[in-house]
Amino acid sequence: ILNQNLFDLSGKVNVSFEFFPPNSAEMEKTLWNSVKRLEGLSPKFVSVTYGANNSTRERTHRIISRIQQETDLVAVPHLTCIGASREELVEIAQEYWNSGIRHIVALRGDLPDSDKVGQQADMYALDLVKLLKSVADFEISVAAYPEIHPEAPNPQFDLINLKRKVDAGASRAISQFFFDTETYLRYRDRCLASGIDVEIVPGILPVTNFKQLLRFSKMTNVTVPGWMHRLYQGLDEDATTRNLIAANVAIEQVKVLAKEGVRDFHFYTLNRSDLTYAICHSLGVREKAFEPQAIAV
Ligand code: FAD
Repeated sequence: ILNQNLFDLSGKVNVSFEFFPPNSAEMEKTLWNSVKRLEGLSPKFVSVTYGANNSTRERTHRIISRIQQETDLVAVPHLTCIGASREELVEIAQEYWNSGIRHIVALRGDLPDSDKVGQQADMYALDLVKLLKSVADFEISVAAYPEIHPEAPNPQFDLINLKRKVDAGASRAISQFFFDTETYLRYRDRCLASGIDVEIVPGILPVTNFKQLLRFSKMTNVTVPGWMHRLYQGLDEDATTRNLIAANVAIEQVKVLAKEGVRDFHFYTLNRSDLTYAICHSLGVREKAFEPQAIAV
């Protein structure tokens, strides 16, 4: 059913890539190699995550500036509001606008102790969307959770939260990663039925480190299906096979999504290019020189 020939997606798919600020010289090198390689795929934008403490904040700014200076990519910083004052956020937003940034991923950020159920935040992503829009007419993307955000009391509450963020000016939602594609598709339907009329861009995570995924999925309330446990079984010490499996799983996922009409994909690259490049390739996303019309068959 998923035969590539069933539908030709070349030129019809938009991709975006997410990076994070590296914390060593070696990882910095890996990041820039990845940025340069993935630039060839002409993504709609590339985004850089934002950490909760001051040093990672500075690194986000630095990487965003370097992307602006050294590439033709649209650089999109993530910004979180938890623990920050309104004055500080206004200042950051103004600086970004003055340096040519027109699109921000607006997030709340995690509570300092995310285990504390019932803890109240002083600011939510909705407040940040409003604040950014009051500073300038930024394009704003926000987060969405097909399997419900861990702190939300129920799915309806979470959906209303997303609707409010969109009504306040967000023009795109990027989803938490997921593996059960049906869950995403049902969520997309529920968003539509609730009057949320922006793209719910699926966040695709190629899983190369299954052990780490298990830890992370608990914190983020993401289900890791039994078939994934079976697929990665016995591969703890075999990174090469894990990479091949990761590419295969993600390629299947994006193809099913594409068949269901999804045309925008956001990749959690983890600062690596190889898997994301391969998955994009399978979606018909090519470098200009390799686009089908540029090749005489
Ligand atoms: P919100 O939309 O504010 O929602 C947070 C929770 O609060 C939800 O459960 C919501 O239902 C609930 N809520 C909303 N309003 C209220 C209210 N008034 N009263 C009570 N509860 C309420 N984290 C980072 O630190 N840096 C990043 O760069 C980063 N990038 C991300 C990118 C994507 C695409 C995604 C999906 C997540 C990212 N995160 C990042 C993680 C994110 O910060 C956390 O998931 C965080 O816990 C919630 O952020 P949010 O913007 O979804 O918050």
